[in-house]
Amino acid sequence: MANDVQKLQAIISHCKEYGFIFPSSEIYDGLSAVYDYGQYGSELKKNIRDYWWESMTRLHDNIVGIDAAIFMHPTTWKASGHVDNFSDPMIDNKDSQKRYRVDHLIEAYADELEAEGKKEEADALLSAMDRLLAASDFQGLKKLIEEKKIKCGISGTSNWSDVRQFNLMFSTQLGSVTDEANEIFLRPETAQGIFVNFQNVQKTGRMKIPFGIAQVGKAFRNEIVARQFIFRMREFEQMEMQYFIKPGSQKEWYEYWKKDRMQWHLSLGIPLEKYRFHDHVKLAHYADAATDIEYEFPMGFKEVEGIHSRTDFDLKNHQEYSRKKLTYFDTELNQHYLPYVIETSIGLDRTVLMILSEAYLEEDLSTTEKKDSRVILKFPPKLAPVKLAILPLIKKDGLPEIAREILGACRAHFRCFYEEKDTIGKRYRRMDAIGTPFCVTVDHQSREDQTVTIRYRDSMNQERIPITRIREIVEKEIF
Ligand code: ATP
Repeated sequence: MANDVQKLQAIISHCKEYGFIFPSSEIYDGLSAVYDYGQYGSELKKNIRDYWWESMTRLHDNIVGIDAAIFMHPTTWKASGHVDNFSDPMIDNKDSQKRYRVDHLIEAYADELEAEGKKEEADALLSAMDRLLAASDFQGLKKLIEEKKIKCGISGTSNWSDVRQFNLMFSTQLGSVTDEANEIFLRPETAQGIFVNFQNVQKTGRMKIPFGIAQVGKAFRNEIVARQFIFRMREFEQMEMQYFIKPGSQKEWYEYWKKDRMQWHLSLGIPLEKYRFHDHVKLAHYADAATDIEYEFPMGFKEVEGIHSRTDFDLKNHQEYSRKKLTYFDTELNQHYLPYVIETSIGLDRTVLMILSEAYLEEDLSTTEKKDSRVILKFPPKLAPVKLAILPLIKKDGLPEIAREILGACRAHFRCFYEEKDTIGKRYRRMDAIGTPFCVTVDHQSREDQTVTIRYRDSMNQERIPITRIREIVEKEIF
């Protein structure tokens, strides 16, 4: 792959060609920053979601899951601070009329500097930006953009407006009467569904602090600069967990969750050097400490997950706005208090892109006699959309019957794919392209001795195994 921009482009094309991800409503030329998952993409996404859900709710003591509604009472968003604060500093290019998030514009320019080998200048620019953002110094930010002569990607000019705030929430109307009183929002994060249910879950589940509530669901943000495929979408899915703790223990639990979440990332088979922490200088309105786990995407290191120490900001505000007591009675301390919260928040779609970026490989298989190559998705078997392909060598002589018997024995346990058409070589390549870790081929010998050839995706090695061992071999790798 010549460069990493090309790699991202190659992944996007591959996703479309092989049924992973399509532009939304493509027959109408698509909708900006909205995507649909196809037959393999939705399986991959589901496997990642399940893996997160199981590791949160099953492998931790005291974490339970919920599924709250997308629509919430509008006061929720006043209490959470989103009505007043969920806005980003934006700047418009007066020639193209294109609006940019200031931090994204400057970060993109810093990436260019770094690509030109000017890393020091890039780092200095980013720290200047962090300082100005922390001080909400909008004039300073504009000056920085002008001094660096940062240009609009469309008009190519540096003719910039002043920097202004812009709210990212989508609004709609509840019921048929259109007036302000009926205005509700599409949730911009799933977290608030957890906070408003804190007492419901705590009481009905008899939960004792420390405990967590996990949730996976859609969130919506009217992102201004929506680019880089499914990295930044207007409709996306989050996997969030709020961990309720004793006030004063937040530092300890913040460190605990940083470590725990990094461990989860490493368990995906991604090496440590592809990750880094980025601690926030400018803290969100609700946080007393925050860090991002960044992964090295084809377009550079970018946030995939945020870990935030949210204090008692959310519960305190919901208590105030709802006038309902949200305190917890600690039987050990014999004391009522509002718990503090550590949040882990990871984007499901960004994780899909991370897994795709890590898995995508163009392999040169040329020999002296013949040029050859293959595109392969080296998914960890537990995340692969299809686990096992079952391929009769030819369509007759009783081979399909044996293959269908294998399918019948395996399909209840993991996702299988059956195919008769085309040469076996072509069928293998198609399975490589969707990341299927195992293929078994049924041939004439299978009729004689109940064995098949199993082919391993990554090594392309093949070996003869009894049909009775297929399930065991696959299951060993996928759980
Ligand atoms: P960014 O700075 O990239 O906009 P953020 O800091 O606003 O992200 P959070 O509010 O912390 O993001 O949301 C938690 C996670 O949700 C992010 O780490 C990311 O994985 C995901 N996420 C946020 N916005 C989007 C989006 N527009 N599209 C896809 N995923 C998103």
